[in-house]
Amino acid sequence: MKAAYIEEHGDLDQIVINELPNPEPGPNDVIVDIKYAALNHIDIFIIKGWSGLNLSMPHILGSDGSGIIKDIGSEVTSFKIGDKVAINPGISCGKCESCLAGKQNFCEQFTILGENIWGTYAEYLKVPEINVLKIPEDFSLEKAAAAPLTFLTAWRMLTTQAKIKHNDFVFIHGAGGGVASAAIQISKYLNAKVIATTSSQEKMERAKMIGADYVINYKSNPDYRKYVYKEITKKKGIEVVIDSVGQSTFSTSIKLLNKGGRLITCGATTGPLTEIDLRYIFWKQLEIKGSTMSNQKEFRDIMKLIFEYNVSPIIDKVYSIEEIVDAEEYLKEAKQFGKILLKI
Ligand SMILES: [Zn+2]
Repeated sequence: MKAAYIEEHGDLDQIVINELPNPEPGPNDVIVDIKYAALNHIDIFIIKGWSGLNLSMPHILGSDGSGIIKDIGSEVTSFKIGDKVAINPGISCGKCESCLAGKQNFCEQFTILGENIWGTYAEYLKVPEINVLKIPEDFSLEKAAAAPLTFLTAWRMLTTQAKIKHNDFVFIHGAGGGVASAAIQISKYLNAKVIATTSSQEKMERAKMIGADYVINYKSNPDYRKYVYKEITKKKGIEVVIDSVGQSTFSTSIKLLNKGGRLITCGATTGPLTEIDLRYIFWKQLEIKGSTMSNQKEFRDIMKLIFEYNVSPIIDKVYSIEEIVDAEEYLKEAKQFGKILLKI
C-alpha cells in the first residue's frame, strides 16, 4: 500500500512516500480503506522525536482519518465490509481497570494513532473495532476525517474538565488552531460567551463566523488583558480559559481568570516551560487542569453532535498525499484556519 512515513527523526524532509506491506487484521480489528486523513500538530512533534519515544521504523504518521471498512477480523461483530466509518485516534488496552471504568485515556498503554502505532497516512489502516464509528450515509468523509482529534479534545476540556455553564465567559487562544476552532463552536453550542484571539483580520472574521462573540488580534493588540477585563467582561473576569498554546500564553491565561476560574491546558505548541505567579492561583482559588484526548463515551457524544450538524469541523485546505510536506509546512507556519486534510 502507498503510505507517508518516516525512517528516522528530523525535519519534514524525513517524510517518505512509498509502498509498505498491507496490514492484516487481528481477531478484533478492522481494516479501513482510508479516504481522507487530517493533519495535527502531533505529526511535527513525532517527526522531530522526543526522549522516550522509541518508534520501530518505518513509522506511518497520521492520527485522524475516515474511510470504508475493507476487511474485518474473525471476532468483529458490529461492522461489515463497506461500512463508512470515522476513527477514534485514542487507542487503549480495553481490559485494565481504567479502561473498564470507562477512563480509556488514563490507560497505561494509551496511545494515539500515528504516535506509537501506524497511523492514517496510508491506503489501509488496522484499528481495533471499538475505535471506529459508523457515519451516516449522507455525511461527508472529509468532515468525518477532520473532526475526531480536535473535537474530542475540545469537548472533554469544556464539559468534563471545565464544566462550562450558560453565560460563562470562555477565553480561547489562537482561534485558527484545530482545538481552538472546535472549542469556539462547542462553547457556543453550550451557550457560553466566547472571546477568541487570533493573528490576522481574515482569521478574525472567520472566528466570528463560527461563533466567537469577541475576537482580538493579539499581534496588533498584545496588551489585550485590560481591555478584556474592563470592556468585555465589565470587570467580571473570565470563567474558563482554553489554552493549547502553552509558553507564550499561560501567564496571561492565569491573569485573565476571575475568582474560581478554570484554566484547562491540552498542549504547548509554543513550548512547555512557563513561569507562574502562585499568588494568582491561591488568591483567586483557580483550578488548573490538564486534559488529554477523551474517553470512548466523550468521543461518541461529540461525534453525534457533529453527525447531527450541531457543530461542524472547519476544513481549511485539502492536499493530496503526495503534497504532504507542503501540507505539514503550512501547518507548522500556522497559516490555517481549521483543519488541513490529505486525500489518500
Ligand atoms: Zn487499559
